[in-house]
Amino acid sequence: MSPATMEKIVSLCKRRGFIYPGSEIYGGLSGTWDYGPLGVELKNNVKNLWWRMFVQERDDMYGMDAAILMNPKAWEASGHVAGFTDPLSDGSKFNTMFRTSVGAGAEAAVSYLRPETAGGIFVNFKNVVDSFHPKLPFGIAQIGKAFRNEIAPRDFLFRVREMEQMEIEYFVQPHAWEKSFEEWRQAMYRYIEAVGIARTAVHELEVPEDERAHYSKRTIDFEFDFPFGRKELCGLAYRTDFDLSAHAKSSGTDLSYLDEETKERFVPHVIEPSLGVDRAILALLVSAYTEDELGGETRTYLKFNPSVAPIKAAVFPLLKNKPALVSKAREVYALLKADICKLKAVAWDDNGNIGKRYRRQDEIGTPACITVDFQTLEDGTVTLRDRDTGAQERVAVSELTGRIAA
Ligand code: ATP
Repeated sequence: MSPATMEKIVSLCKRRGFIYPGSEIYGGLSGTWDYGPLGVELKNNVKNLWWRMFVQERDDMYGMDAAILMNPKAWEASGHVAGFTDPLSDGSKFNTMFRTSVGAGAEAAVSYLRPETAGGIFVNFKNVVDSFHPKLPFGIAQIGKAFRNEIAPRDFLFRVREMEQMEIEYFVQPHAWEKSFEEWRQAMYRYIEAVGIARTAVHELEVPEDERAHYSKRTIDFEFDFPFGRKELCGLAYRTDFDLSAHAKSSGTDLSYLDEETKERFVPHVIEPSLGVDRAILALLVSAYTEDELGGETRTYLKFNPSVAPIKAAVFPLLKNKPALVSKAREVYALLKADICKLKAVAWDDNGNIGKRYRRQDEIGTPACITVDFQTLEDGTVTLRDRDTGAQERVAVSELTGRIAA
């Protein structure tokens, strides 16, 4: 049983500078959260891992970054203007797209903040095909903000009004969708595990027809055991040729694909793995949150994988009033910053006793702590302390770079 409660997680996130309530000094704005100095590092790491696995390491994927504002005709064609609604308590339907106006005065036109990143991908399908001539199957990936005027935002990062999504539209031959659907199902688990979300806490839900989005012929929700219940973390949907066909019809642009080998022309079908960055971070925090006993004291720590930990290593001079120790520790700190961890990923701390410094780093999930002491001045070794076990060993400064996982 996870010791993580929402209260503990929300409080740690605020106290340690991961996530703050949006516009807090004005009493907040429901459904918004601001990522602080550690939160933004964590979030970037989560996004970078996804980008690396699904765009950079593959030959069949193309990345893009489309505008949030789109011609409103795109949202009419995709069915969102008519159907992106949630029921209100009186039985009427409420469209959860944020309306905004583009331009001034009489020129102003109604548009929407995109409710999903997928739209920007579909309207660029032809551009990518014309520039790169990819062979099917291939995918286009995008990470970016999406907005939904949720009727009842709740549960911290779980249901927010401004979020970020990581989405892939994977274009396939119409008859080949089941194979790709299965491949992406496995790929999603690979990412879930790589980022550090416990796979045992993820459960698939085959979404029944009457609950599926208007464009989907098959959807699997990947649900996670959040402290407030088993809820959707991410989804995998078979969107058929719904979007490309609808945009082709509405825009008058041919969005079909010519198979060079068979000379067949058709509209590709689409498999869509979709993951909310904020929900991923919440699931990650719940998975990483650990309480244990170390050296006879209880402690709280975040068991992040080094690949997503905002700080990879922290360097301490044993005592802050011994100039020789401090300057040696500064040297080690500069070496690590330049060599492995780059910029902000190495922390410096000379506040309070060593035990307190360890606890502070544990609580923000730093995998390695390095202490420079008097022996360092004699033989060039430091104490390297492991976050999870608390075990300490002497390591030569020259070997540190290879010993710290980043
Ligand atoms: P829900 O049923 O929980 O409202 P959904 O089925 O509408 O979610 P999708 O349209 O499938 O969600 O969006 C894809 C992903 O975007 C979701 O799996 C989730 O990770 C994320 N997401 C959707 N809505 C929100 C939200 N309001 N806050 C945070 N993340 C969200």
